Amino acid sequence: MIFSKAMNDALNKQIGNELFASFSYRQMAFELEELGLKIFSTRFHQQADEEHEHAMKMAKYIEDCGGHVKLGGIDAPKTGHGTCKAMAEAALESEKRVSRQIFDLMNLAESEKDHSTRSFLKWFVDEQVEEIASMSDLLQLVEMAGDGNLFLAEQRLSEMMKADPHG
Ligand code: MG
Repeated sequence: MIFSKAMNDALNKQIGNELFASFSYRQMAFELEELGLKIFSTRFHQQADEEHEHAMKMAKYIEDCGGHVKLGGIDAPKTGHGTCKAMAEAALESEKRVSRQIFDLMNLAESEKDHSTRSFLKWFVDEQVEEIASMSDLLQLVEMAGDGNLFLAEQRLSEMMKADPHG
């Protein structure tokens, strides 16, 4: 095993964190659909898929390093957000939280002089900058539209998704 037991455990914990983020986006995608916001719903389903991919990327790294993947329980996501704005805010908060989790992992890798994991985690550090920027843009869009004009926000989001299919 290339990394320590502590690092293996921490990476397993992050798999759970990514899956929880995926679960949360999935729940919000269905709530957005219930609000009639199909484009926002599609965007959040896409984000849920991405978070799942992040979990799998981490699992593959553990296996490649000769470690052990151990999946744990996932908490139920928050439900009943009520508004699109509440969900955009929750999405941004989620990305900020995940960034702190990735930083904690990076701090552990640095303290253990674990260069393999540091190199691996760099992708996640960069990815989180993108995710926060993307969710900040989304929240700004919702705030500009206001409650009465979310259909305009949907049109704009649709254009943004065509221009940048990966969010
Ligand atoms: Mg993620």
